Amino acid sequence: MAQTPLRLFNSLNRQIEEFVPIHEGEARVYTCGPTVYNYQHIGNMRAYVFADTLGRTLQLKGLKLTHVINITDVGHLTSDADEGEDKMEKMAASQGKSAWDIARFYQEDFERDLARLNVQKKQHPRATQYVEEMIAWGKRVADKHCYELESGLYFDVSTVADYGKLARAVTEEGEGRIERLEGKRNAADFAIWRKTPEGETRQMEWDSPWGKGAPGWHLECSVMGEALLGFPFDIHTGGIDHREIHHPNEIAQNQAYCCSGGLSDATNSGARIWMHNNFLVERSGKMSKSSGEFLRLQLLVDKGFHPHAYRMMCLQAHYRSELEFSWEGLEAALTRLKRMIMAVERLADAPSQPVAEHPKFAAPLAKFEEAMSDDLNTAIALTALEDALATKKVDAGIKRAVVEHMDAVLGLDLFSLSRADLRIRPASAEIAEEEIEDALARRKAARAEKDFATSDAIRDELAAKGVEVMDGDPLGWDWKLS
Ligand code: AMP
Ligand code: ZN
Repeated sequence: MAQTPLRLFNSLNRQIEEFVPIHEGEARVYTCGPTVYNYQHIGNMRAYVFADTLGRTLQLKGLKLTHVINITDVGHLTSDADEGEDKMEKMAASQGKSAWDIARFYQEDFERDLARLNVQKKQHPRATQYVEEMIAWGKRVADKHCYELESGLYFDVSTVADYGKLARAVTEEGEGRIERLEGKRNAADFAIWRKTPEGETRQMEWDSPWGKGAPGWHLECSVMGEALLGFPFDIHTGGIDHREIHHPNEIAQNQAYCCSGGLSDATNSGARIWMHNNFLVERSGKMSKSSGEFLRLQLLVDKGFHPHAYRMMCLQAHYRSELEFSWEGLEAALTRLKRMIMAVERLADAPSQPVAEHPKFAAPLAKFEEAMSDDLNTAIALTALEDALATKKVDAGIKRAVVEHMDAVLGLDLFSLSRADLRIRPASAEIAEEEIEDALARRKAARAEKDFATSDAIRDELAAKGVEVMDGDPLGWDWKLS
């Protein structure tokens, strides 16, 4: 199959560019990972579904993928710009646990959510594993680019060319988040190292040339990106909020460390392409982790939704568009996934054939390739998958191979799911599935004998237990829990 070149939107110059690997046959990607002081909300998970879709697309192009998602287990303050309390220590204190235990617990929860969303396995280095390298980095840039204040070692952003090119303009929000600390040379200067205040002890602190303390949050991504992928690497990703502070600061550190030149040559930033997913938003404000019961993947599962319905919801929107979460939207995504599964079930026993052997699939395959190559247009790619599934009078084995080829990129895992897996099953349901199936079997037998009184009685009995019987439902749900 002829390959369409992959074109991606580079936030650094706000342009679509053709992707050319820095190392032939390879793609190296770094994705800013979560701060593991709490559960992740589904907005955070959108960032990783996006990064995973990018990784899978690079694999579609035949590239060997190395993909890192770091784990921030130290250094992130309650504001991105060096102010407030340390997120890890604050949560540890409120739960009466050690910061290390908090980190381990929420990292495991995060990895469980990644697996549930079928995000391919990636490397997950933890910041605390790289403190020595962070100190070495600090030493290398300190003389030319930093100055010391009472509270730590600060990076002077005026010492590198084009600081803030990624952010373009300091937005109101960005400006509000920049700390006005006595002695700072520029408002945007940020901490490379934060000293533990005199008389205090932190759970997470290390000795350094600038006193006992902990690294600033931005440093870890520079250090781990360089250590694991080597500068320059191909693509750096994160949520759109990182365009304002975290990534401009990472870029400044990278310039200071290795490249010194300005950003008209993107590789001086440490990576060639910087990509950012837009936010998942929710009207009632349940996305915010400070709002008590916030929207976690577990909440979706508890309400009875299969996690892949959320992956489908993400894929239906372009990653650069804002996506509004609603339960109705999630249910629509689930229904769409179910229609796909019903079509795929018919292919279950077909032996897979080589992909491109049938002319009837040429159009959907080309549409799919073009869509994914066009800055990851997953919304169109999904319709190409549906076109392939709807193609009539073709060998089932070839259809199976075409669908597998597309699903390897979309990651919906269609062949491992059955329609029953997608049935909405709230955790609060009190009736067991066997009891429902048993009642439905008795009802079927009664109807076969034209005993409609019994059949209706069974139906009412089920309704009283929250089970709606769905006779003749075109999606074959048979029943649902309300
Ligand atoms: P954090 O743990 O705050 O660093 O966030 C982890 C990742 O999720 C980062 O890439 C954020 O940019 C991203 N993110 C945070 N909130 C949202 C949201 N509502 N929608 C999409 N991505 C988000
Ligand atoms: Zn980062």
